[in-house]
Amino acid sequence: MTEFEPKQLACPCCKHEFETRLVTGFRIGEKEPDFCPRYLDGNPLPDFLHVCPECGFIGFEADYRSLNDEQKIKRVNTLLAGFHWVKGQQLGGAERYRRAALIGIYAGKRSAEVADLYLQATWCSRMEGEDDDEQKGARRKAVKYFELALAAEEFSPDDLPVVNYLLGELNRRLGENKKALKYFDAMDKLEKVDPWLIEWRDKQKALIT
Ligand SMILES: [Zn+2]
Repeated sequence: MTEFEPKQLACPCCKHEFETRLVTGFRIGEKEPDFCPRYLDGNPLPDFLHVCPECGFIGFEADYRSLNDEQKIKRVNTLLAGFHWVKGQQLGGAERYRRAALIGIYAGKRSAEVADLYLQATWCSRMEGEDDDEQKGARRKAVKYFELALAAEEFSPDDLPVVNYLLGELNRRLGENKKALKYFDAMDKLEKVDPWLIEWRDKQKALIT
């Protein structure tokens, strides 16, 4: 079973205080080729994001503490107004991650963090049974923000093999075969790529016709 503990949070945008639950334990089996985990006791990802029931702000627990710049809060509040939040509204995992990514952009998160949120939106979408077409929008945005993060040199050299692999695999899933091959092949120019990742790359690259 996924394990939780109760937690009191104060919303940075509307100051409302509410009780949520923190994920304290879960089990992962294997991972899919785009790193989507196969959770053994259900998907804990939606519960990593906390939704303010009052205004619809969504973020990780750390976001509730780190969003304290008045300018940024103002920008996020403008975005939230556009969501037309209904108090107490419930959101599924994919929608939580899509909205958290947008909020992250307005709150000035790094592109790599935004890319991760969009990637996790595609995972939740799949686990919630949405079809692949509904994952494509978030997948395209994940690619865009991973590329922006690469251009801004946000990744350490140790992260580059995984980032290039992911950009290869996400582009492959989007039918962008030329771009997929570019990123898969770029892994050969990197130092220190783990053998398992080369194996995964070769397997996914072979699917491109
Ligand atoms: Zn709020």
